[in-house]
Amino acid sequence: MSVFSHKEFDQHEQVSFFHDAATGLRAIIAMHNTNLGPALGGCRMWSYESDDAALKDVLRLSKGMTYKAAVAGLPLGGGKSVIIGDSKKHKTPELMRAMGRAVNSFGGQYIVAEDVGTTTEDMNHINSQTKHVVGIAGGAHGSGDPSPTTALGVFTGLKAAVRHRLQRNDLKGLKVAVQGLGNVGYNLCRHLHQAGAQLIVTDMAADKVDMASREFGAMAVALNSIYDIEADVFAPCALGGILNDDTLTRIKAKVIAGAANNQLAEARHGDVLRDMKVLYAPDYVINAGGLISVYYEHLARSTNKAFERQMVLDHVAKIDGTSESIFKRADQEGISTSLAADRIAEGCFKSKKACKAA
Ligand code: NAD
Repeated sequence: MSVFSHKEFDQHEQVSFFHDAATGLRAIIAMHNTNLGPALGGCRMWSYESDDAALKDVLRLSKGMTYKAAVAGLPLGGGKSVIIGDSKKHKTPELMRAMGRAVNSFGGQYIVAEDVGTTTEDMNHINSQTKHVVGIAGGAHGSGDPSPTTALGVFTGLKAAVRHRLQRNDLKGLKVAVQGLGNVGYNLCRHLHQAGAQLIVTDMAADKVDMASREFGAMAVALNSIYDIEADVFAPCALGGILNDDTLTRIKAKVIAGAANNQLAEARHGDVLRDMKVLYAPDYVINAGGLISVYYEHLARSTNKAFERQMVLDHVAKIDGTSESIFKRADQEGISTSLAADRIAEGCFKSKKACKAA
């Protein structure tokens, strides 16, 4: 397994590997760039098919956090961690505490939060070993589960994309295909339903699909059929890499706006979407709500002030203007929206100047 010559290495500042024999912890913590502040990013627990798959994932996710924090106008760098293992079988409080000690060894340059396969409760176990953790429930500083705020941000970015591409200010009767009804996807469905959108959904968990059908009148489709649906908007809220050579020939939506990280299998797929005249709302731009929420928790904790939800909501509302400015820049420069977003992010973190949220 190569690290420095890895395809996804991209000038990472630090990549650390952790093993704890007593608990079986095998984890990687990656810090991509800390020019704008300490690296903040979630801890994913996943049963990777190989160590290399885990390394690839952590490098891609960590880089994404640098771009996400920069475009959101947060004084944070990008980092991420992965624990190799099945969260349903291998996760124990002792293992999470060992992860807490690994996080603590960075002395605050890496701040951990929850991600796929980890929960608020896990963050509490980590918190017993380090103060460099966010997404804690309760207490004066705790912001709790970031997922509903992520969903709110995705909803905000999705509406901005609909306005820009479909010239519509409301979502009434609009058909939205949602892939994945997890913590973010399900909350997004609630916003969409309240706004009058018609939902087409899929998830491998039949109970979540049934709930969405009952609660939101959503039409359920098979996992692989979601790409073929005649919808106005496609909202990927499951896993990354799903916008690829196979799926792009099938997607009929004019707007793609969802929560999943790293939706484009390769950067060139952003150009393919532009050529197809599909407006892609870059994932890290519109799924920054959770990061914004935990940033204000970090701020409250480090200044010993109470966590203020309103500050989060005000900041998340800026995803609308930020998305719009990215869409306009892409139009003006004749480039993909993903490249426009990357250029804005790089302009900020490479020059060590925080971006201004719109
Ligand atoms: P989650 O684990 O709660 O939900 C994911 C859902 O997707 C699950 O219900 C799962 O069954 C479903 N799923 C998995 N593979 C699928 C497939 N092939 N087809 C359909 N459904 C499938 O995760 P989440 O917290 O809701 O996050 C969803 C995505 O958003 C992830 O990519 C995550 O990295 C990203 N994200 C989450 C947050 C957050 O605050 N939770 C923030 C930013 C980005």
